Amino acid sequence: MQTPPPEPAPSPVVAGSACRTATASLHFDFDGASASACSVTGERDFTLLVTPEHFPPINPSPWYAFRYQAEGDAPVTVTLRYLGGFHRYAPNWRSGEETRDLAAAVSDNGAKAVIALPPGSGVVSAQEVIAPGDAAADLARWSRLSGAPVFTIGFSHDARAIGAIRLGREDAPRLIVLLGRQHPPEVTGAIAMRAFVDALAARADTLGDVQVLVVPMLNPDGTAHGHWRANRGAVDLNRDWGLFTQPETRAVKAWLDALPSGVRPALMVDFHSTGRNLFYVQGKGEASVDQQRFLAAWLEGRETALAGYPFTIEPRNANPGSGTAKNWFHQTYAIPSYTYEVGDDADRPATVAAARALAGSLIPALDAAKD
Ligand SMILES: [Zn+2]
Repeated sequence: MQTPPPEPAPSPVVAGSACRTATASLHFDFDGASASACSVTGERDFTLLVTPEHFPPINPSPWYAFRYQAEGDAPVTVTLRYLGGFHRYAPNWRSGEETRDLAAAVSDNGAKAVIALPPGSGVVSAQEVIAPGDAAADLARWSRLSGAPVFTIGFSHDARAIGAIRLGREDAPRLIVLLGRQHPPEVTGAIAMRAFVDALAARADTLGDVQVLVVPMLNPDGTAHGHWRANRGAVDLNRDWGLFTQPETRAVKAWLDALPSGVRPALMVDFHSTGRNLFYVQGKGEASVDQQRFLAAWLEGRETALAGYPFTIEPRNANPGSGTAKNWFHQTYAIPSYTYEVGDDADRPATVAAARALAGSLIPALDAAKD
């Protein structure tokens, strides 16, 4: 009688769980940590499989984030192996208040990157971690600056509250809509949005006949889980405008539908990140005279005027049914509707300064387009 084969040895690969040896460990136990499979490849060597939340990925934004603890000063290395993507984000390291980018030795045509970790402990992530809790802190700060209350505009797929704030008077007729973080890894867009809203909230009492709806974290589930793109319904939220199959986009739509008569969107700006700084705006053929005047007053001619933050303006005609916030707001309300894209490697202080400057000139530009 043949004996059954032995049970296979348990795999050392455990997605999203701690990976440890006697002297070093990696952990994935915080909001924003990736669900990467981790394997121990030596006493002080680990390998992470950086994978998208569904395959194939919609966008090559391979997010990774973990924290580590190591005893002693011997080097600890982490090898990132990318499935369905290539190394894109320089590793950001943070320990307490200290932060810097780490070097990554990239090979296999970008499919592999090796990082040497500083001794001790820290968090390593594809970009700075700005998690749902950080967005809540931002909202609380905007509330203190402006006196406006924070409210919950809706709930995510996994029932996380989606926080929002309205700056200015509830009956102010012109509404600016600011959206952030539809796409979890796009942190530089979040950095710009934070500075942009800081500037507006600080003078919310001077907004006059303008009010501003701010939703800084539209995809809290995807961000908390370290997704590359989607929400927990496996949907790219920025392809769902018009369809409104997802609770996150529906929440904003329901709020807009409940606006009092006399209040109407006048502008939408949606913050994202990509390879370089740019604004996607309406194509020349589809922008009305007023919309072209707004673009001229706000952005045109300033492409190289903001220190350390050069940008381009990219007119794009609407692709009907594309489901982007940009196209849906433009087509639904006949308003300027822009995607504010910040480069992955954009200089952070320059990004902040530029966002503040652009916020400062926003309402004068709206006024100029109206007159
Ligand atoms: Zn995006």
